[in-house]
Amino acid sequence: METITVEEQNKTALAREMMEKLVDRRVLTALEVCVRCGTCAESCHYYQSDPKTEHTPYYRAEQVRRVYRQFMDPVGQAFPGWFGAKPTTDEALSRLAEIAFSSCTLCHRCTFECPFGVETAEIMRVMRSVATACGYGPEMLVEIANAAIAKEENADLFRDIFLDQVKELEKEVQDKLGSSEARIPVNQKGARLLYVPLAGAHTIVPQAIIFNIARESWTLSMFDTANYAVFLGDITKAKRIAQRIIKEAEALEVQEVIITECGHGYTAMRWDAPKWFGHPLPFKVRNIIEVIDDYIRDGVLPVNPATNGEPVTYHDSCNLGRKGGLLEEPRRVLRAVVGDFREMTPNRLHSYCCGGGSGLVAVPEWKDIRMQAGKLKADQIRQTGAKTVVTSCDNCRFQIGELSQYYDLGVEVTSVSELTAKALV
Ligand code: SF4
Ligand code: SF4
Repeated sequence: METITVEEQNKTALAREMMEKLVDRRVLTALEVCVRCGTCAESCHYYQSDPKTEHTPYYRAEQVRRVYRQFMDPVGQAFPGWFGAKPTTDEALSRLAEIAFSSCTLCHRCTFECPFGVETAEIMRVMRSVATACGYGPEMLVEIANAAIAKEENADLFRDIFLDQVKELEKEVQDKLGSSEARIPVNQKGARLLYVPLAGAHTIVPQAIIFNIARESWTLSMFDTANYAVFLGDITKAKRIAQRIIKEAEALEVQEVIITECGHGYTAMRWDAPKWFGHPLPFKVRNIIEVIDDYIRDGVLPVNPATNGEPVTYHDSCNLGRKGGLLEEPRRVLRAVVGDFREMTPNRLHSYCCGGGSGLVAVPEWKDIRMQAGKLKADQIRQTGAKTVVTSCDNCRFQIGELSQYYDLGVEVTSVSELTAKALV
């Protein structure tokens, strides 16, 4: 008979409590309606890249269902043996955490292919929350989420360094535009837009060039849009990270918050935050590609597609595209700023995940898993013959850059903003 330690009993109690709290009607439906028909297998990039049963959506979800039945289903509690239910040991929880964090990127593609619309990603999201609460959240993701909270708590310490960095970047923008009038405004009360970047000049300089050319009323956020607590399923921390930007936007009285090309950051602020806080945010949230799309439509950005003459393809970030609904905006911009735009197949709602989403790119130990799961994306890119891959998410950008090296694709990876800035005349 298996011996269960006191610590394991405590973790089991916590896991049960979390599951009871998080399994709402939507998740319950996903847990209950799967008929194990297997239709979803081909829809998953893990399975496509390595066709094994353990890489199917229903296999993963089934591992969580066993725990759910043990904890919450009266039949499962009465007859645990029927469902393969076993005491929840340290080893079992650790294995479930591994499944939830590294073998599903929460891309939601399988839901579109399932005849019953089973949301396997929602099951895995609940499992991530349970695992994080019980102390099985990947250390790297926990550290990044904590660092975002610490940055707000110590904002005064960071402010001067940040302002110095912005001055350097402003100089770069002025050099590129040949104008000492170009600005990267910070703390500009009453600006129309608050632009929220990521760490890295590539999410500030091209956008600053675009805003200056378009004569936009804008100001740069002191914070970045990354919210790794979302990947952990830790909503308490996710709210704190989002709150930094909300407080800043309210203090500056901006009309809109514009999120840089970051899939999860955009989804978190636009779609998740109003649900977390239980009310709409007091400003509009859009992505920078929506703004660029408007500028091009309104003729305020003089662009020449011949500047980007090499063949270009676009990878739909799962968060921005399938989950966020921004499918045509990047394509309209790309058709205006590149000379030879080529679609991957399939694309838009049916695009495959690159294999690096939902925090996988941040954990070095998962590189082999990512490269394996990204094989399908690498094949798709190769088939287009493109020399440049554009994507509107920094996680996808990093992953595709690594896929290019690993599979010898020889492609450059860039963003919609960067190609737009390059096409300005
Ligand atoms: S999730 Fe949907 S497609 Fe997949 S096995 Fe279950 S019912 Fe079939
Ligand atoms: S959500 Fe994506 S990664 Fe997860 S099982 Fe479904 S298709 Fe696979």
